[in-house]
Amino acid sequence: MLQTSNWSGCIWTASHQVFPLNYRSIRSLPFALFSKRRSTKFMASLSTPTRPPKPIEVAKRLEQFKTTIFTQMSMLAIKHGAINLGQGFPNFDGPQFVKDAAIEAIQDGKNQYARGYGVPDLNSAVTARFKKDTGLDVDPESEVTVTSGCTEAIAATMLGLINPGDEVILFAPFYDSYQATLSMAGAKIKCITLRPPDFSVPIDELKSLISKNTRAILMNTPHNPTGKMFTREELDAIASLCIENDVLVLSDEVYDKLAFEMEHISIASLPGMYERTVTMNSLGKTFSLTGWKIGWAIAPPHLTWGIRQAHSYLTFATSTPMQFAAGAALRAPDSYYDELKRDYMAKKAILVKGLKDVGFTVYPSSGTYFVIVDHTPFGKENDVAFCEYLIKEVGVVAIPTSVFYLNPDDGKNLVRFTFCKDEETLRSAVIRMKDKLKK
Ligand code: GLN
Repeated sequence: MLQTSNWSGCIWTASHQVFPLNYRSIRSLPFALFSKRRSTKFMASLSTPTRPPKPIEVAKRLEQFKTTIFTQMSMLAIKHGAINLGQGFPNFDGPQFVKDAAIEAIQDGKNQYARGYGVPDLNSAVTARFKKDTGLDVDPESEVTVTSGCTEAIAATMLGLINPGDEVILFAPFYDSYQATLSMAGAKIKCITLRPPDFSVPIDELKSLISKNTRAILMNTPHNPTGKMFTREELDAIASLCIENDVLVLSDEVYDKLAFEMEHISIASLPGMYERTVTMNSLGKTFSLTGWKIGWAIAPPHLTWGIRQAHSYLTFATSTPMQFAAGAALRAPDSYYDELKRDYMAKKAILVKGLKDVGFTVYPSSGTYFVIVDHTPFGKENDVAFCEYLIKEVGVVAIPTSVFYLNPDDGKNLVRFTFCKDEETLRSAVIRMKDKLKK
């Protein structure tokens, strides 16, 4: 395991212990701050001076996990006054017509528990959009489950459909909640690494990883953090392996409307796949409302049953007025999506050109609002060391990618930047990097 000897911050935990922070500890401790000082307000709030400290407690199924990298990096952005191109949330607001719909729903008294699997209006809006996007006709009453964000759809799907010991195949780098929710479900994770420059799927490797114990392949297109989009050839190959081996596909498609260089394809739309696919999506990315936490899972009735059983006992139902507003959002005309795409393409162009001018190797990103770069021209020993330098000395936050791999070394040369920020913020970040990042 690689060590970063020159990254010598510390970690302050609820048990009042200070640990040296290094490449290993960022993955193994619950809370990390890259600072020698421990007197911030946040840390004060973690400790109660009048009560003796107790060691932290966590169930075994979660003990290997820590504060998410997104939370850590956003806290550091605030602490160091750095420009946050780390956590993927827009620094601009969502559309007025959706906010108006939420206010109207609240004023109309749509404020009690919603039907557990979604208010009928939203379930219908989800199926109408799915039909438009994929051509598939699905039943809003028996094939859609509305959840608290896609993150809950992922959790409910794992807990509702995966048995302890089942094997689930992931593509690394993978979004952090996949591993944690699979661990909660007791699944056995098998992993395939997608490698730069194009992060293409090594189909032969996938083939050799599938066994009689494989229950599902969990995929994400457009893909966070790489921006890769699964091609039709890759999806066809995955589909035939799944059909041949009776494997489910759990497909996270939250960035489907942020597809810039190629057309997004839902694997559920391929022949023979709908009956074995759970398609998950949400409102947050497409409508710049990441705090609303409205998501959904679309699956045939026999799979929806398991998802709904888990959902019923995880959250039961999600926010009623926001569901009505989500219904209004999903009925947006095509022009809304066209404009969204145009705006994001302009942002992407600013960041990509800026990063290239600064001297990074920038890997092509076809979708999402993320771009991956190789930081090694700047001489830092790994992604974590580079990100620490970038925050403290340059004033910009990026996400180290090693946390998205089972083997962190696979991500040590790569960091992720997001361009879901206003153009001025993106330009300022580029200027800071041009001024202060030296090869
Ligand atoms: N999806 C967001 C990202 O990848 C982060 C969401 C979160 O903070 N959990 O940046």
